[in-house]
Amino acid sequence: MQKEVVLSGIRPTGFLHLGNYFGAMRNYVRMQDEFNCYFFVADWHSLTTHPDTKALKASVHRVIAENIACGLDPEKVSLYVQSDVPEIAELYLYLNMLAYKGELEKVPTFKDKVRLQPDNVNAGLLTYPVLMAADILIHRAVKVPVGKDQEQHLEMARNFADRFNHRYGEVFPQPRPFNFSNNLVKILSLDGNGKMSKSENQMATIYLSDDDELIRKKIKKAKTDEGPSHDNAEKPDYIQNLFTLMELVSTKEVVEKFEADYNQCNIRYGDMKKQLAEDMAIFIKPIREKAATIQNDNAYLQKIMREGAEKARVSAKATINVVRESMGVKY
Ligand code: ATP
Ligand code: MG
Repeated sequence: MQKEVVLSGIRPTGFLHLGNYFGAMRNYVRMQDEFNCYFFVADWHSLTTHPDTKALKASVHRVIAENIACGLDPEKVSLYVQSDVPEIAELYLYLNMLAYKGELEKVPTFKDKVRLQPDNVNAGLLTYPVLMAADILIHRAVKVPVGKDQEQHLEMARNFADRFNHRYGEVFPQPRPFNFSNNLVKILSLDGNGKMSKSENQMATIYLSDDDELIRKKIKKAKTDEGPSHDNAEKPDYIQNLFTLMELVSTKEVVEKFEADYNQCNIRYGDMKKQLAEDMAIFIKPIREKAATIQNDNAYLQKIMREGAEKARVSAKATINVVRESMGVKY
């Protein structure tokens, strides 16, 4: 039986964080044996919000290194850089002819970016969901491990695939978002304002490169409140977020103890944060150290990127051939 095709990408816009780990990378690692996986560094996507390219090279290398440090095996998957696969740009061009200005302007992430960078509302920002659709459809992927923030972009990718199929014949399967936990994950920033992010909320985001002291400092400052007012109270989202992080890095017994404390109204957030900080530091240390070693090994990085692109281009070329054939762009 043919393995299902999986695709996902991460922008080289900064340091990877727990949101990326939870929403994306942890799933990548768990999928690599069972599926035919393509994971890429989305350098073209980063240009929509980060036109200054001085830090780009280091960021691309870091994303590759941190993915491998988290357990991704470049022998099992294709790990490549988006701009090394020009077929994606060709498919993006075709899909742009099927995407409407009105629907793109309505996308919430586009509206957010317009608010954040009013002086740089470039066409790339507007057509971000089209390029993302091309990233996925170029491998005819069906499973896309992403965080909750990408749910709507994926719905658009399905629409573009449908439109293409309708007009030119059945070429693309429907890509679906994927997370092992059934629900798509969103790790909030520690101050409770928005999500952890590479580009925003940096003091309230825990990065895989943070040292022990910084981890302690950030968790100590995490938003809490005076505690629940009655037994078995529902948790506010910023408290649930601390529990979610604790489930990732602490033992089951520890999580159960604080859950019980919460449910019986005698939770001490100071103690909980201390425990979380220590367990988080232990969790992140080996990832940080392994990533640093890989990042310093330029020959290894070059080899990974070259081999990843070779594998990705085999699949991308096959799709472009089918696309051109079905569109009649073949003379
Ligand atoms: P940027 O702020 O530059 O957009 P980002 O942190 O949003 O960076 P992306 O490269 O846009 O990261 O996304 C990479 C993957 O990580 C995507 O699958 C996205 O859904 C996931 N992701 C990002 N932030 C979170 C988060 N806070 N919780 C869960 N998943 C997340
Ligand atoms: Mg993002």
